[in-house]
Amino acid sequence: MTRAEARVEPGGTLGVFGGGQLGRMFGIAARQMGYRFAVYSDDVGGPASQIADVAVQGAYDDEEAVASFARQVDAVTFEFENVPAIAGATAVKHTLVRPDGSLLHTVQDRTREKQGLVSIGLPVAPFHAIASAADLEAARERIPGAGVLKTSSFGYDGKGQARIADGSELAAAWTALGEVPCVLEGLVPFEEEISVIVARGAGGDVAIYEPFANEHTNHILDVTVCPAALEPAVAQEVERIARAVVEGFDVVGVLCVELFRLPDGEILVNEIAPRPHNSGHVTIDAHSCSQFEQQVRAVAGLPLGSSERVGPPAAMSNLLGDLWSAGAPDFAAALAIPEVSLHLYGKAEPRPGRKMGHLSATAPTAEQAAARVRAARAALTGE
Ligand code: AMP
Repeated sequence: MTRAEARVEPGGTLGVFGGGQLGRMFGIAARQMGYRFAVYSDDVGGPASQIADVAVQGAYDDEEAVASFARQVDAVTFEFENVPAIAGATAVKHTLVRPDGSLLHTVQDRTREKQGLVSIGLPVAPFHAIASAADLEAARERIPGAGVLKTSSFGYDGKGQARIADGSELAAAWTALGEVPCVLEGLVPFEEEISVIVARGAGGDVAIYEPFANEHTNHILDVTVCPAALEPAVAQEVERIARAVVEGFDVVGVLCVELFRLPDGEILVNEIAPRPHNSGHVTIDAHSCSQFEQQVRAVAGLPLGSSERVGPPAAMSNLLGDLWSAGAPDFAAALAIPEVSLHLYGKAEPRPGRKMGHLSATAPTAEQAAARVRAARAALTGE
């Protein structure tokens, strides 16, 4: 077995960089399969640390601390994409790092990410990189109409973004974003936002979930419906794109491809999240092997599981801290609705906009599952 295919048997230790809910759900899946679970994070007592066998607090660029952590684990992964590259580069000297740091490097910069997607033949919205004021003119020429200006780094959930009606607003928008490197994208008149979760194992096996439809509120994912209602040809195109991403970027692990579906069925790639994704939480309750179990299998070098849904259609709704504004939510009322499951992340402080947990629900149709999960969420606050 080569190093690329190396396996960590159950009983070994799997580590994660990052202490949030994605790390926590990875850890729960790891423990279910008999692994020890270790967390390296720059905060203490967060969602992942609470359930870890080993929780280390340290800076991601503290090479000595990262090296010491890496020596304690048999393989390590990431739960968010902005872990500084130095953490992966340090860890790989001491342990298996999956996926390897190159994918993080690609997606940490939106321009690099889009160029990478184009280089493997995938469709994206028209875009133009803006590194300095000298690039504004060419960007306006390339995208004269409505657009979205995004900072190249550290943007998420709509942060670091500005809509412009046309090129005349570009310079002011760039100044408002701090004149940092940005990418201007043409505004996509999408009909629906969809996502696809895909895993690739150390042996090159690929597992692709059915596409999910996503609704956002205030740029934060609100409800995911599974499956998305897509024409077979469109679903096939989504599958082709998912496979091309993991194979084209040579990924071992789980990632999410976020997509726009245009009115004529055309699909454009918006971005890649190089880890399990909020829209994939529905796989915990609805699918044979959850996105987190797939991540464990991929990171450990085990064969991937089935990505098939085992039961009826499903939906997921996020629980943001706002739901706590009038006191503790009425969890019993939500759970009195049949086929509803509750997932909370162990966060002590329910701030507005903060992801505290999610609900999922199944039902005979996807529409009914969405209605049920919304009803369950409304029941939390007595609506
Ligand atoms: P992002 O951080 O790139 O995922 O963008 C956040 C949200 O902004 C997306 O989920 C879309 O709803 C919207 N958005 C981003 N890029 C575009 C675009 N080029 N055209 C239209 N809407 C966009």
